[in-house]
Amino acid sequence: MNPQWARVLRTIGFDRTFAKAQGQYLWDVEGNKYLDFLGGYAVANIGRNHPTVRRALVDLLQTDHPSMVQFETPLLSGLLAEELKKRIGRGLDYVFFTNSGTEGIEAAIKFAKCSTGRPGIVFAAKAFHGLSSGSLSINGDEGFRDGFGPLLPHCRSVPFDDLPALEHALVSHDVAAFIVEPIQGKGVNMPSPGYLAEAARICHRHGSLFVVDEVQTGIGRTGRFLAIDHEEGVEPDIIVLAKALSGAHVPVGAVLSKRSVWDQVFSSMERAIVHSSTFHQGSLAMMAGLASLKALDEDDLVANAKRMGQLLMDGLHAMKSKFEFIHNVRGRGLMIGLEFGPPRSLALRTGWSLIHAMDDNLFPQAVVLPLMDDHRIITQVAGHHIDVIKLIPPLCINEDDVRWFLSGFEDVMRKLHQFPGPIWEVLKKLGKHAVTKRSREPVPN
Ligand code: PLP
Repeated sequence: MNPQWARVLRTIGFDRTFAKAQGQYLWDVEGNKYLDFLGGYAVANIGRNHPTVRRALVDLLQTDHPSMVQFETPLLSGLLAEELKKRIGRGLDYVFFTNSGTEGIEAAIKFAKCSTGRPGIVFAAKAFHGLSSGSLSINGDEGFRDGFGPLLPHCRSVPFDDLPALEHALVSHDVAAFIVEPIQGKGVNMPSPGYLAEAARICHRHGSLFVVDEVQTGIGRTGRFLAIDHEEGVEPDIIVLAKALSGAHVPVGAVLSKRSVWDQVFSSMERAIVHSSTFHQGSLAMMAGLASLKALDEDDLVANAKRMGQLLMDGLHAMKSKFEFIHNVRGRGLMIGLEFGPPRSLALRTGWSLIHAMDDNLFPQAVVLPLMDDHRIITQVAGHHIDVIKLIPPLCINEDDVRWFLSGFEDVMRKLHQFPGPIWEVLKKLGKHAVTKRSREPVPN
């Protein structure tokens, strides 16, 4: 299907086939058990094959329920919209359902342009909002855009967490919206306290919409239902959700919008389906969303994300003083970034420089690979040209899982702090491969 991706997986030892999944665990075809700290790019918040979701989907399939009739007023969509509104409030009274995060962003871009009559979109450097053409136009990584231009005009970026730069970008009054992730997925970049609320105020002062992309951070990931719930007074005009609403079963996303926005887009009966898609509110997707929210509540997973996130953070912070390569541990709830940086001691600095000279995407693989090979823990590199790995496990992990991760990570750190050593040999081999191939495969989210 994608031979280049298969080559990447083979090169880094991730070419495994999984046969079984339950909660936060996966089993490969040989029966080996893995701890999943990748969470399917944050789709598996409630854990995989959750009985509540499974039962709801099976029950629905066993009725003669009509899905996708189109000319109808489907009950399940209304119920899911109500459940989302109950949890989100903020006057975001209208919901448009999608099949993915990027479709949600496309809808947000269209809604913002239509409701303001302005052409521009401002986004944050290093942002990731998906890979369809509109979302790609506001992607902060040039690597993803290579070869796909020209994309949407009038899109410009500002540094993340920089309010004066945002204000400067909006003064021309041709900007429909500022679209931003409350915590950036690439690199797990955190905003300063107060940034999001003030960004919203600046947008509103200049007649632009404030659009929050909670595709990755939403549905409990950060220890609150939304990441913006951590801050007082954040007033979005549009919020985009997707990923974990699916229960890791049926793709579904949601765009929640203020009535003032909605009324401009769907302004008459002629325009009633001016934005739509055939699959946008299929019954299985709606049921997956409803059951996922129910499971999140039943298992008290938002609170668990906060608790387990704190345990992980405490354990990782404690290792910071022991291991020179660990420069920063940041995040919220169960969205954690571990940033590595140049060590103090001469021998280790030699290894650091050598690997970075070969390929500046390589070093975090020295953590991800042995975590997988030696400890059966699945993690990911958090982006291009940064020395960060990201932890986004299912929110149902428990204290044993935290210990599993921390002891595996500590072992990897100990070995990595011996230069020369076996991990460095593996890295050199990978580096040679990268240098000869000069591969620039983008790192997916
Ligand atoms: N927005 C954010 C913050 C994301 O992390 C992603 C995907 O990783 C998207 C949008 C795009 O979502 P999808 O892959 O479902 O199109």
